[in-house]
Amino acid sequence: MYIVTGVSRGLGKAIVEELLGLNKAVIGIGRSHNFDNPNFTFLECDFSNPNSINKLVFPKLVGHVTLINNAGVLGEIKRMSDQSSLDLDQVLTVNVLSPTSLLHSVYSKVENKNNFTLVNISSGAANRAIPSWAAYCASKAALNMLTETFYLEELEKENHPIVYAVAPGVIDTDMQLEIRSADEVNFSSLENFKELKDADKLFSPREASKRLIKLLDMPFTGQVHQDLRGVD
Ligand code: NAP
Repeated sequence: MYIVTGVSRGLGKAIVEELLGLNKAVIGIGRSHNFDNPNFTFLECDFSNPNSINKLVFPKLVGHVTLINNAGVLGEIKRMSDQSSLDLDQVLTVNVLSPTSLLHSVYSKVENKNNFTLVNISSGAANRAIPSWAAYCASKAALNMLTETFYLEELEKENHPIVYAVAPGVIDTDMQLEIRSADEVNFSSLENFKELKDADKLFSPREASKRLIKLLDMPFTGQVHQDLRGVD
């Protein structure tokens, strides 16, 4: 059974399409969706309100449970000192607090902790400060650390879940459109992202989701941090 967040578009939607194509049962969580499939169940939830996670009512979680925390936002693309009111809350809530609360809630319902896989979708920006993406970089760095800490804590308890923080590469989604639509006055990396698109260097959401599923099919080596650019 798979639980995937942010299934309305982009990478999350492609992951669900791929999983349903493989006849897997999927619970999608987010604000909206367009799936019509007997193997798909939707739970409505706005990640900008972390309390809404506690109100989710899950069907019984059976067999191996894989939670894919994919929903994410970039936030305002502007240097911090140029923002009229600094809004870190929204990005940190959607990208860090809500996925971690969801992990906490789902994991508590998993009977056999060795029958659990966590995938937190991170970013290369977790390890590289990008001017005008402060909240996003900080959120993905925090997510990486929470992911790894969770893994080590469970090992201490002699549980053996599979745990990944995955940088998915640059994917041709609305998030990239948002990046390329930034004002060059506010964003020094704008040209780099435009060049990647012009040179056709972006993964399609389908390619990225196929690589993710390939990673999940591989034996877990204890390497929590993964980059889909290295999986083919
Ligand atoms: P996207 O096309 O912008 O889609 C984002 C998804 O997150 C949508 O389904 C969106 O749902 C959902 N979401 C956003 N805010 C939400 C909220 N408050 N509550 C519930 N769901 C919410 O982005 P993407 O490119 O597919 O990104 C997916 C993940 O990959 C993100 O974690 C992102 O940080 C990461 N990533 C992407 C790239 C890239 O190049 N695209 C690179 C590195 C990492 P709504 O339709 O309801 O807004």
